[in-house]
Amino acid sequence: MAKLDIITLPDPLLRTTSAPVERVDEALRKLAEDMLETMYAAPGVVLAAVQVGVPRQLIVLDTAKDDDPPRPLVMINPEIKQFGEELRLYEEGCLSIPEVRVEIERPAEIVGGSLDRDGKPQELKAEGLLATAIQHEVDHLHGKLIIDFLSRLKRDIVVRRFKKAAKGEAPA
Ligand code: ZN
Repeated sequence: MAKLDIITLPDPLLRTTSAPVERVDEALRKLAEDMLETMYAAPGVVLAAVQVGVPRQLIVLDTAKDDDPPRPLVMINPEIKQFGEELRLYEEGCLSIPEVRVEIERPAEIVGGSLDRDGKPQELKAEGLLATAIQHEVDHLHGKLIIDFLSRLKRDIVVRRFKKAAKGEAPA
């Protein structure tokens, strides 16, 4: 396994739409393993392939609590098939937008569908943090970020800050 680099704002790749995975093969499984390692090391609970520079519809998650055994989950071509009516407010962070947290209200329960790491269809009823995490990641596959839930003014402030930081890091 190898740790990958996570891209951050203002990388334009974060705004692209990820393409569906056509074939679940060894290379894809290797990518999913590397993404899990990268996610655990960050540390984070969710990661989309586009966040490591690969705009394909692949996400990995593990929302197990700290003292529980790891529960890695790989979702290929994920989609949300049903949304519950109840909403849940959660303060979300994003590995691609370090140190920014946004309160977002999303459906508390969802039914998600995807392929598993063997390419077989799987359906998943999710609630709580897992439901939030899946919705956050499916947003990534459509180029949508947590800052899009902010007012335009607040979003512009965040984007400007990251653009400035990126410029500062670039070699002269
Ligand atoms: Zn994110």
